[in-house]
Amino acid sequence: MTLERLDGFEDPAAAREQYVTPPSLASHLLTLADRQGDLEGLVVDLGCGTGVLGVGAAVAGARAVGVDVDAAPLAVARRNAARLEVASATSWVLGDVATLPLDLASATVVMNPPFGAQRRGADRPFLSAATEIADAVYSIHNAGSRSFVEAYVDGEITHAYEASLTIPHRFDFHDEERREISVEVYRIDVR
Ligand code: SAH
Repeated sequence: MTLERLDGFEDPAAAREQYVTPPSLASHLLTLADRQGDLEGLVVDLGCGTGVLGVGAAVAGARAVGVDVDAAPLAVARRNAARLEVASATSWVLGDVATLPLDLASATVVMNPPFGAQRRGADRPFLSAATEIADAVYSIHNAGSRSFVEAYVDGEITHAYEASLTIPHRFDFHDEERREISVEVYRIDVR
């Protein structure tokens, strides 16, 4: 309910697959992370958009850094953090995950990367960056991505569950009012 109060994308860019993670899915992912002890240090939200995952992590007591390539949603994320009174526990950084402007180790990454619907392989730089800086990664993917993710990352999937996302009609190429898509959430223990 707290995360329902956050604003979403004002003018979403289709090519960047800008969709907000539903608050219920975000809070489920963060509850798992909290129970695993993964919200105690620094949490990095890669492709943070309007910040639901990073702001949620900060509400749960973490320090959070959000990174996005687009300045417009970052401004919304900053405002969202202030709305939930976690501005001082969060930082918002403009940057591309492929050339991540952060030098970190042992963080926890939370992310809902582009699924690659617009540009094949768009999730790869996210997985690479995440495993570079984190001990534990929580990531949302298209259903059926498990074997690809397992083969791609140097780590082990310790938790996996299914969820669904409703994508509202937003862009001209959407021909349905909304579409339910099946996703899977993975926790990856990085080696
Ligand atoms: N994490 C947010 C937004 C998900 S949409 C949420 O859960 O609600 C995916 C986000 O990734 C968009 O905000 C988009 O701008 C960002 N993005 C796409 N490619 C990127 C890249 N190469 N580097 C950083 N951010 C990127």
